[in-house]
Amino acid sequence: MFDCIMVGAGPASSTAAYHLAKQGRSVVVVEKASLPRNKPCSGGVPGAIAQWLDFDLTPAMSMKANKITYTWKMEYLVQVQQINSPMWMVQRDVFDDFLIKQAQKTGAEVRHSTEVKGIELKNFLWEVKTNSEPVFGRYLIAADGAGGPMTKRLGLKEPTLCLSASLETRSIKGDSVNFDFGTIKKGFIWSFPKADGYSWSIAAMRGDKPKDIKKMLAEYALKCGADVSVSNVREHPRSLWDGDRKLHSPNSLLAGDAASLADPLSGEGIRHAIFSGFKAAKASDRALGDADDAKEPYTESIAQEWGPDMVWIGRLVRAFYQFTGAVYRAGLQFPRTTKLMSKILCGELLYADIANRAFNKLMPF
Ligand SMILES: Cc1cc2nc3c(=O)[nH]c(=O)nc-3n(C[C@H](O)[C@H](O)[C@H](O)COP(=O)(O)OP(=O)(O)OC[C@H]3O[C@@H](n4cnc5c(N)ncnc54)[C@H](O)[C@@H]3O)c2cc1C
Repeated sequence: MFDCIMVGAGPASSTAAYHLAKQGRSVVVVEKASLPRNKPCSGGVPGAIAQWLDFDLTPAMSMKANKITYTWKMEYLVQVQQINSPMWMVQRDVFDDFLIKQAQKTGAEVRHSTEVKGIELKNFLWEVKTNSEPVFGRYLIAADGAGGPMTKRLGLKEPTLCLSASLETRSIKGDSVNFDFGTIKKGFIWSFPKADGYSWSIAAMRGDKPKDIKKMLAEYALKCGADVSVSNVREHPRSLWDGDRKLHSPNSLLAGDAASLADPLSGEGIRHAIFSGFKAAKASDRALGDADDAKEPYTESIAQEWGPDMVWIGRLVRAFYQFTGAVYRAGLQFPRTTKLMSKILCGELLYADIANRAFNKLMPF
């Protein structure tokens, strides 16, 4: 029997497993995919994640990017000069594998190719049924990502899923992050450089489910000079923050995309996964230690630390996706706006810090 069972082996789970194992708790991570797995993702990560991980992340980094370009409907290129703090770029198979190995080094057990099929809490003990033998534990952290089954199984509010897709190419290289607006309604296309190529992504951010999302992404990559095939584009859902929600149920917590914590404007979610994994480890360690359940403070502390900024993002999102063209013309293509956005993406600034200024400028449109 384990102190804690983590479902999923993404950044939320591995962060929680690392910190709990470091506290001497017995931990098992149960992952349905065969590891290392490559999650569809562009892999842009802010340096701010280092505050929740006390080991050197350099081996997990592919490169740093310090330039941004924008296009409107794949045209009218605006090249923005260097951004102050470079953004870290990671390959998700390498990054996630590195994180889970840090958890293993501290004592966490990892069972991959093991899909959770059902859960049952009996006499304060979880039985997690899998495609192989069941796993027993006192506490459960559900970090099974966007579209995973655990939120529903725990009787918590299910996320609204948005459609996204991604593509990896090795044919062209570069050092800038690129965003295209206007091609996809209420969303955007972006490409992030890696040491050996580019990761391309497309997202419909407001719940729309366009049918030709894979084709749009392939066309964009082709137009940028990449060697592509639509069949290599992989769809994956996203669960973005849409208001504070309950993140606990008896003897269990939600973390990462399963908790719908990703930024609804930029779609960034790795930082939020790591932050919530860190918090979930603290809360479950307290609960395991005291017999006094610490789950409510977890929901509260996520809402307190993340919520206020997310409220500002929610307002910006409404303005941005309603008037994308006007916002693009009025602000986004200017270097000053980019510097602010890059500071946010690097974790150096909160939306709340700039929202008043930005909102006053954007709302008249
Ligand atoms: C196209 C795209 C591009 C993105 N680009 C970026 C970006 O550039 N920067 C950024 O910060 N964020 C990005 N994101 C978001 C980011 O990928 C997620 O926010 C992040 O991966 C969430 O981490 P997680 O640990 O919560 O879940 P995940 O990384 O999704 O891990 C969940 C794990 O749970 C496993 N699982 C699911 N069900 C079960 C089950 N029943 N049993 C066992 N295991 C299960 C899955 O196999 C998976 O490995 C992007 C997302 C998409 C879709």
